[in-house]
Amino acid sequence: MNLINNSQQFDVDINKETTELKYAVNEIGDIKHISEVERGLSCNCICPYCKSALVAKKGDIKSHHFAHHNGEDCLKGGETMLHLMSKQILMDEKRVMTHGELLQVNAEDALGFHHELTDYIATQVLQGSDAVLEPNLGSYRPDVSLNVKGTWLDIEIFVTHQVDDDKATQQSTRKRDMLEIDLSQLPRDLSMDELKEQVLYLAPRNYIYGSNREAKLEALTTKVNQTISHINQIEEKRKQAESNAITVATDDSVTILGFKFGSGFSNKRHGQQDFSIGHLFCLSKVQDYSTRNFTLSASGGYEVISRDASDCLIETLKTYQFPIQAKLEYSPKPDMGNKFVVSGLTIVTS
Ligand SMILES: [Zn+2]
Repeated sequence: MNLINNSQQFDVDINKETTELKYAVNEIGDIKHISEVERGLSCNCICPYCKSALVAKKGDIKSHHFAHHNGEDCLKGGETMLHLMSKQILMDEKRVMTHGELLQVNAEDALGFHHELTDYIATQVLQGSDAVLEPNLGSYRPDVSLNVKGTWLDIEIFVTHQVDDDKATQQSTRKRDMLEIDLSQLPRDLSMDELKEQVLYLAPRNYIYGSNREAKLEALTTKVNQTISHINQIEEKRKQAESNAITVATDDSVTILGFKFGSGFSNKRHGQQDFSIGHLFCLSKVQDYSTRNFTLSASGGYEVISRDASDCLIETLKTYQFPIQAKLEYSPKPDMGNKFVVSGLTIVTS
């Protein structure tokens, strides 16, 4: 059988509403194909959904099929049969293919950069040593459970009802692997062989809970979080250093003799731009140290130096009788790189 052509054919040949059953169950629950039973009511088969008697229609004109003896238009027989047959296939074969998946985890650091890590789980055919039909897990029974190397894999067949959140949560809580196989888009009248390919290999499937998948996701998350926390710590330290530089008073108590604020325009500047100044005049000890390119011969006493001041100080300064003794605080000058301006002062009482 050409599997790819076969699955493409389903897209155009889907017939979910068929009432014609090719398979039915007999009085002891065995699945029977129309070709395996006697004609008419003596087929001894019932509809798996409504349990009413079926007749085997095996005439010369129409294709052979089962029909409800009471003539009722039962639409559920086909999907119930599909579900029953799928469970039988899993019980007989005790194997299932799981799908490969790309796993991605990403998160954003304090600087707004995204960090993404990926891993994958490979496609695998899991062979069980044992299969149990509808094991009792308390509040529900999965369709089939396979024992794969000592670990139970629960399998749910999705024909009309998807696994709900409650069941998914319970599987996750008890860390029990569960695979859902989606047959909802398949025609309801597949042959046993066609259905076998779909159930075991071809139909879409996904882990409701997969311990291997969860472990890989957790490892990725831990790794991403470590990277982000490392970057965030560095950024936090940088911010701390920056804020220390701004708020710590760099002069330890100076004598302020006066202040001057004003504004004007300059002919020297392009376009006669307005400018404003703000100065504090402070007493400073005359330089008493040499530098790399200046050798001090002698010095003593004080000189007047000016400090750029923010005009937010004007109202405060106007209330003082000079000279005053104060500690200065500096802020970076807007648009001036590493230059600083006096933005606060605290009077030192003597
Ligand atoms: Zn029925």
